[in-house]
Amino acid sequence: MIIDLPTSLDFKLSGLSYLNLSFSRVLRLLWHLDESKVQAWDSDGSATSEYWEAAQEPLATAVTLLHQACEFLIKGLICEVSPYLLISQSPNKWPSGCSANDISFSEYRTVDAQDLVKVANTVCEERLPEAFISLFDRIRRDRNKLTHTAKSGVVLIPDNILKDILNTYTLLIQSTGWVEQRRNYLSNNYETIVYSSDHINCYYSWELLKVSSFLSPSEIKKYFGYNKKQRAYICPACDCIEKFKVAYLKPNSGSLSCIICGNSIPIVRKSCKYCKGNVLSKSNVCLLCGSPNEIYKV
Ligand SMILES: [Zn+2]
Ligand SMILES: [Zn+2]
Repeated sequence: MIIDLPTSLDFKLSGLSYLNLSFSRVLRLLWHLDESKVQAWDSDGSATSEYWEAAQEPLATAVTLLHQACEFLIKGLICEVSPYLLISQSPNKWPSGCSANDISFSEYRTVDAQDLVKVANTVCEERLPEAFISLFDRIRRDRNKLTHTAKSGVVLIPDNILKDILNTYTLLIQSTGWVEQRRNYLSNNYETIVYSSDHINCYYSWELLKVSSFLSPSEIKKYFGYNKKQRAYICPACDCIEKFKVAYLKPNSGSLSCIICGNSIPIVRKSCKYCKGNVLSKSNVCLLCGSPNEIYKV
C-alpha cells in the first residue's frame, strides 16, 4: 500500500507558510530601503532604481515561493477529494516493488504544476475562481522563465508580488483574515524560537503600514479590513517607539480597536494640550500626537 499519505490540511498549512515566506522575502528588501533612509539622500532616485535592479534575484525567489504556495494550495483542494488523484503516472511507471512493499507517497511522481488547475476543476465540487486561474498561469510562466534562463527578461516589481500574494490568499484560502493569520505567523515562526517575540507588534505595524502605502483604500479594505480614510491612533498596548498609528475608534464604545495586536483599548475623551486630538489613553497620553498630558485633578 501507499504510506505517508498527505492530507488536505498538510498542503494548506504548507501553502500558507510559503505565502508568508514569499511576503517576508519582499518585505525584507523594503526594510533595507527604509533602514538606509535612501529617500532622504537619493534625490534623483538613481540609487533606488539600482537597488531594485540588483534585488531582482531575491525578488525571483519570492515568486518561486509564491508559485510553490499556489501549487500546495491547489493540491490541498484536490486532496480533499482524494490524495491518490495527485499521482500522475500509470501503474507501469509506479515505483518498482510497490505491489509487494509499502512505499511512501513521496516516492510517486505527482501531477505537474501545469496540469493542477485542470485536475482540480475536473474532480473538485467547486471550480477554481477565474481570477486565480489567470493569476496562477502568469506566476507559473514568470517562474519558469526565471528559473530556466539566466536572462529571463522579466522585471519584477515588489508591490506587484505583494498584491499577488494577497490575491492568492483571498481567492484560495478565505476572503478575510490576512491580518490575523500574518500576526499568527510572525508570532510563531522559526525566528521566535531563538528571539523574543516582544518586537513583533512594532515590526508588524511597520509592515502593515508599508504594504498599505502601495494599496488603494478599497484594496486596504478588501485585504486588511480597515478604512484608510478613518483617523488612525497610536496603540498604547503595542507600545512602539515609532508611535505607529494602527488603532481605530470603535463606534459608540469608548475604545479603540488595534489592527496589529487585536486588543480593545479603553480611552478617555479629553482635549490634548499639544494637538487638536481628544483621544487619550487611561494614563493620559494623547493617542494622536503621543504626548503625555499631566494628570487631571478631579
Ligand atoms: Zn496594538
Ligand atoms: Zn496630542
